[in-house]
Amino acid sequence: MTETTETDAKTEQARPDHEVVIVGAGFAGIGAGIALKGAGIHDFVLLERAGDIGGTWRDNTYPGLSVDIPSPTYSFAFEPRPTWSRLYAKGPEIKDYADHCVRKYGIMPHVRLGTTVVAARFDEGADLWRLELAGGGTVTGRYLLSCQGALTTPSHPEIDGLADFAGHTVHTARWDHDHDLTGRRVAVIGTGATALQVIPEIAGRVAHLDVYQRTPIWVYPKIDPRLPRGVQELFRRVPATQKATRFVTTTAVEIIVTGVVHHRRVQPLVKAVERRCLRHLKRQVKDPETRERLTPRYGFGCKRPSFSNDYWRTFNRANVDLVTDRIDRITETGVRTVDGREREIDTLILATGFKVFDISFPIVGREGVELTAFWKQYRRQSYEGAAVPGFPNLFLVPGPYGNIGLSWFQMIDAQIRHALRVIGEARSRGVTRAEVSRQAHDRYMSWVERRMPRTVFLNGDCATANSYYFDEHGDAPWQRPSSVVAARRRSRSFPLDDYDYSTRVSAG
Ligand code: NAP
Repeated sequence: MTETTETDAKTEQARPDHEVVIVGAGFAGIGAGIALKGAGIHDFVLLERAGDIGGTWRDNTYPGLSVDIPSPTYSFAFEPRPTWSRLYAKGPEIKDYADHCVRKYGIMPHVRLGTTVVAARFDEGADLWRLELAGGGTVTGRYLLSCQGALTTPSHPEIDGLADFAGHTVHTARWDHDHDLTGRRVAVIGTGATALQVIPEIAGRVAHLDVYQRTPIWVYPKIDPRLPRGVQELFRRVPATQKATRFVTTTAVEIIVTGVVHHRRVQPLVKAVERRCLRHLKRQVKDPETRERLTPRYGFGCKRPSFSNDYWRTFNRANVDLVTDRIDRITETGVRTVDGREREIDTLILATGFKVFDISFPIVGREGVELTAFWKQYRRQSYEGAAVPGFPNLFLVPGPYGNIGLSWFQMIDAQIRHALRVIGEARSRGVTRAEVSRQAHDRYMSWVERRMPRTVFLNGDCATANSYYFDEHGDAPWQRPSSVVAARRRSRSFPLDDYDYSTRVSAG
């Protein structure tokens, strides 16, 4: 650990526009703003490229959108909502919850909408981050919190002819509500957690639906009761009852996480979950051949599973076809598979997910090193999923091996606590730079390497899963290989001396 304090006449010049700049006004950015205010840091700005807050819950408005983690868990622990209409809230309710949090905690005055960051550079002479904005202008901040989310940039499949299609093409993350699907011939490409919600919702309206599946998804039955007025009233009057409900739903979600991160130890549990899913499939799909094609051939947890009571049974419908032949190309009028068959459509729905590892602008740290290029060359890595040596005063919410559990809110809670502890320490030392030491970072990454073989990613049968949890190096940097409980404990207890604290202001 080092500590250098140089007072300099130029300190005044080195004062940034804001103490903290947050990029992204989804739940992570909102949570960061609330936590900063709670810590007494009011000098922060939240930059958001879109015209509204809410991140993925603003962008995704497709039919059937709902959360697939129980709402008492998929929400801030400090801001329970007694009025969830059901256990798994619908998309608009979650967007409304985001609006509510922003209002209640006074975050909106800190938000700059329609502000796109095109680059962030660390100014080594002034210990601050300089963010370049689209259309000109800069914003500077002592600390940068990258809260850009993972489900931000829609992924368009690399399929020949996509641009030639003369009908209507829509990505699920950019739903076109003006395009009525009633009576249309529709194709959906993709069978992930999004498709699983869209398909049952539209199947009854369209004339015909072709579902192009490359990899089947594991589906667990969804226990999704309505939460009647009486229950909502109970939650409101006796908050402990909602806390208890959160405890139960969080424990249930944690069991799934255990199957992922401690896969080697709990294989019988994972196998039991798989059997439960297969029984569900058998009950839902009549035709054995269709059932066979819907059966995943990789271990549960290798890729994102989901919950649904109506996805699989949609394939019983006479107007729905499951197509598992590989797509050869899109033509002007339809989709052609490698067997030469072309199926005509007038609407193409891309349920093809997101570029989950993309950071939407270059982040340039000390000595001109750019973060994404660094990871491309040396593999994705970070200390505690939050910080990278060479990138002082930068916190990733989350970075590689930083996501915990299944609920984004658990990740937000832990990763923001991490950032705030370091920022608080730097402030109390009266310094302007906090950078994780190489040694601490390497120690964390060695721990990750030792833990990964226990996870489903290295231990399960993931070869055919085509999972976005894996990156181009074959690593699975999406998830921290530990339980939620352990990760939260760690965010409270990691040694603050794992960071070097210093002040370097321009002599110049
Ligand atoms: P996804 O899980 O990445 O699924 C994309 C689908 O598109 C996959 O089935 C994929 O096939 C297919 N695909 C991509 N390129 C293709 C190509 N060239 N040809 C054929 N198929 C192609 O994306 P998503 O369904 O949008 O879900 C993304 C994440 O959003 C989920 O994992 C989940 O975390 C989140 N989500 C959450 C909720 C919620 O309620 N909380 C709801 C929906 C989504 P392969 O599998 O073969 O790659």
